[in-house]
Amino acid sequence: MILIFLREERVKDKGLECWESWKKPVKLNKPTLPSILSIISTPIGNLGDITVRSIEVIKKCDAIICEDTRVTGSLLKALEIEKKELISCHGYTDDKKIDYILERLEKGEHLVLVSDAGTPGISDPGYKLVSRIPQPTTDNRQLEVLPGPSAFLAALSVSGLPINQFVYTGFPPLKKGRQTLFKSFAEENRTIVLYESVHRIEKTLCEIASALASQPERKVVICRELTKMYEETVHTTIDALKESASGITKKGEFVIVIGPNR
Ligand code: SAM
Repeated sequence: MILIFLREERVKDKGLECWESWKKPVKLNKPTLPSILSIISTPIGNLGDITVRSIEVIKKCDAIICEDTRVTGSLLKALEIEKKELISCHGYTDDKKIDYILERLEKGEHLVLVSDAGTPGISDPGYKLVSRIPQPTTDNRQLEVLPGPSAFLAALSVSGLPINQFVYTGFPPLKKGRQTLFKSFAEENRTIVLYESVHRIEKTLCEIASALASQPERKVVICRELTKMYEETVHTTIDALKESASGITKKGEFVIVIGPNR
């Protein structure tokens, strides 16, 4: 067995008294470099929104944990990054896969976590893995975040609504709790931001209009295809929402922003 010794130097208190101590021997076959899971946000439509730092980290990592290997494979190709090992990890991933990823981190590998678009964990997979990483950092294992695009943040910024405080509710439930959620918006004094798919956008906007009918002047902003070629931002009110819902182009991805109840 090969042994190395680490020397630790410290300054005790604020005075001049310095001291040195020799730590216990450390086995070399233990990982000496910290392993890292880098959480990286990817573009929500415009390739140019990937950060310089993200590209650097992706290039040097050992493997990428992603939602759909085809989507991440295409992203790497578009960014002209050489092929990397892609490990799929989606909403239905079982604990065994998470254990496997944790084992690889324990071995000292540098892994990257991405989702199909935007920020991992925001209405996307990621939470299950990140929540299993001991925090604060222990056992040579580290988490780092490389922030970047997220559709709800982009929508809030462009909405022109007050955003010092806001509530993000993700996708509305399909059945149970749906109407309760929409009715609760009537009491909300902060700006509300939610996601909706093209298949349900009109229905959801009409149901919000009905739930908030007593607040006809309340502002609503519908953002479609943010950062993409056909980006569109529609400013409307609860009173005019049903009309806006039927008129909006039913293509692409949507974020709904509702102004506060003031
Ligand atoms: N993790 C992503 C994020 O950080 O924004 C969200 C993923 S979620 C599965 C996908 C939803 O995000 C879409 O249905 C839509 O509501 C919203 N979205 C994503 N990209 C968008 C875009 N370019 N324009 C508008 N909405 C978008």
